[in-house]
Amino acid sequence: MFCPARALLNMTASTFLKGIEGKNIHINIAKMKNTLLLFVLLPFFLIAEEGMYPLSEIHKLNLKAKGFKVTAKDIYNPNGISLVDASVNVGGCSASFISAEGLIITNHHCVFGAVQQASTVQNDYVTNGFIAQSREQEIPAKGLTARIIDSYRDVSAEVLAGISDTTDPVERTKIIEKNSKTLVAAAEKLQNGVSANVAEMFAGKTYVLFINRTIKDIRLVYVPPRSVGEFGGEDDNWVWPRHTGDFSFIRAYVGPDGNPAEYSVSNKPFTPKNHFVVNPNGVDENDLVFILGYPGRTYRHQTSYYLEFERDIRLPFVQKRNAWMIAQMEAAGKNDPAVALALTARIKSLANVEKNYRGKMKGLANLPIVQNKQKEEEALTAFINASPERAKKYGDVLAGIRSVYDELRSDAQRANVLTNIIGSSSLLSIGNTLIKLAEERQKPDAERGSPYMEKNLNALKVSFLASLRSLNLGIDKLFLSEILNDAVKLPPDQTIGSASSVKDPQKFVDSLFAKTKLSDAGFIEQVFTMTPEQLKEANDPLIEFARALSPEIEMQNVLNRKRNGELNRLSGKLVDVKQEWKKTEFIPDANSTLRMTYGHIRGYQPADATYYSPITTLKGVIEKTSDRPEYNTPQKIRELAAKKDYGRYKHKKLNDVPVAILYDMDTTGGNSGSPVLNAKGELIGVNFDRTFEATINDFAWDESYSRSIAVDIRYVLWNVEKVGEAGFLLKEMGIK
Ligand code: GLU
Repeated sequence: MFCPARALLNMTASTFLKGIEGKNIHINIAKMKNTLLLFVLLPFFLIAEEGMYPLSEIHKLNLKAKGFKVTAKDIYNPNGISLVDASVNVGGCSASFISAEGLIITNHHCVFGAVQQASTVQNDYVTNGFIAQSREQEIPAKGLTARIIDSYRDVSAEVLAGISDTTDPVERTKIIEKNSKTLVAAAEKLQNGVSANVAEMFAGKTYVLFINRTIKDIRLVYVPPRSVGEFGGEDDNWVWPRHTGDFSFIRAYVGPDGNPAEYSVSNKPFTPKNHFVVNPNGVDENDLVFILGYPGRTYRHQTSYYLEFERDIRLPFVQKRNAWMIAQMEAAGKNDPAVALALTARIKSLANVEKNYRGKMKGLANLPIVQNKQKEEEALTAFINASPERAKKYGDVLAGIRSVYDELRSDAQRANVLTNIIGSSSLLSIGNTLIKLAEERQKPDAERGSPYMEKNLNALKVSFLASLRSLNLGIDKLFLSEILNDAVKLPPDQTIGSASSVKDPQKFVDSLFAKTKLSDAGFIEQVFTMTPEQLKEANDPLIEFARALSPEIEMQNVLNRKRNGELNRLSGKLVDVKQEWKKTEFIPDANSTLRMTYGHIRGYQPADATYYSPITTLKGVIEKTSDRPEYNTPQKIRELAAKKDYGRYKHKKLNDVPVAILYDMDTTGGNSGSPVLNAKGELIGVNFDRTFEATINDFAWDESYSRSIAVDIRYVLWNVEKVGEAGFLLKEMGIK
């Protein structure tokens, strides 16, 4: 399932801006005192390090000295079975196999869309939760797939073949795209049933080809009620102390021959190469923990120009727009439960980004992150200029990057409209994709864009039908009118022909929607067989509006490709000169590939005179419980808590069931659902969030504020055993 929350979080105005991550620890002066104190009090191996290590780097770490009880080979062994084989990517989230019969644990928020799709007002699994009492009762998790890594290799030379320092920037982007596509097609042809992707590790420098297997039949097994899985709602999102039971169980199924297959009753549970041991005893403060997961994107080694663009333009724009859209959707659903249910996943994903961006904006305003970066760039410039040879080779790098950002600033308002107008309305974006589909279907299959290849057409249809199911026409119209209002207000030298000339956006949108057939699934089905000419003859007003917008959107795309190509060239050189300067290798920024990070269960000081300890308990759930839907703890949990019925899950010192744990590992979006493992590699929690102060760590990591949050395995198991009474799942996980 497409995880909208994550996808949005990982999107930038220029998704083409890729970053590199350094190993240098940014010391935040305001918090330096705490950091120094930590250095004094803790043995050196208890000090956390920045780093989302690719599998290829793990063997360089001295794990034993850091307190690990497993070796690098136990974690990753391409020639045998290792912990990595128990790790899986579910719809953009991380997840873990925890039984030999394909049982997977991930976050409630990662399966939320699928639960919403399986729900009706009468059978509302979102509100009430869902427990399959037998395999037969497990229901399809529509849209969710599970991706497992088969193998990977460095393909930098192949991806960059045909490129030189003087290649035209647009051409450069095209060559990289084309070479990557060829590699993917060749790998997929070579091995039946695999899917491949090329991941950019360092922009313009290093690329890795991943060969994956994708399991298509995923079913819901155990989903707690929303009042547990999303306890605290938006109020508590990105916040510590936290009391959210953000976990769910799903199961992977394959065809009778063991190969991935579409849903069928004759499918059987998948047997993974390996699965994690679940340790019901959990961990304690200061214990070593590590994570294997798929962090989405970080921007640690981007320049100060990038950070300023984020601070001044992109973050405030998206934050404001999301806040407005949320308010409109909440108003639309206020007196209509069916509308509220249909809009709930979208509101949740927009709100998630909105608050994350507020956190980042606060961080950029209060911490000297941009200033530190500027100082680093000054020193780097001095290093470059100190040698005529270096000056010749690298003298244009920072100035070149700066001029790309100057360009981005100059037309940012217009670019924002062009980037967002199609996506503002679900129907308009279906219409736009249908135009492309008709055109692409004229080409041989291998030459089509990936979504339009025969093997992917069904998935495309399914995604359209899912959009129609959650479509709210009033909202769809409102959002399109609003962006047209922005288009109308663009400065005279930045207008967009087909959009800025609209006289009355609302009337115009009403007229488009009055005649379009795009909300009719039957019509969409027909379009899947139409030629471009037939589609034109159908003369659907929304499709035709999308068509009218396309030349300027395409021009913007060409401009983006040019800027991207230029940044790609310069970023590669930036890494080279920085490595020469710092005499060290860098760890690449997160890019949705499998990474390991480690750290310790640890509290922090978010503000003056405030200290947060790192383990919350059931007591806190009850303290927060109220009549507000977000805090309306199920009666059964209240009763069990009142009786202190903790079973085996009691934390001795805290004398209560631990609910959430806090640690100083290096995580980001996409790490949602990651297994949190103890020193022996046993699963003791499921990562699901960061603190408000930590949202800035996508730009700069610091031990003093970087904290991530997991649901403690003891709360998960206590829920399964005592609340859901699903002891059979504990048995399947091998817990006696
Ligand atoms: N809660 C986060 C999200 O929904 C995921 C983890 C993170 O970003 O730290 O995107």
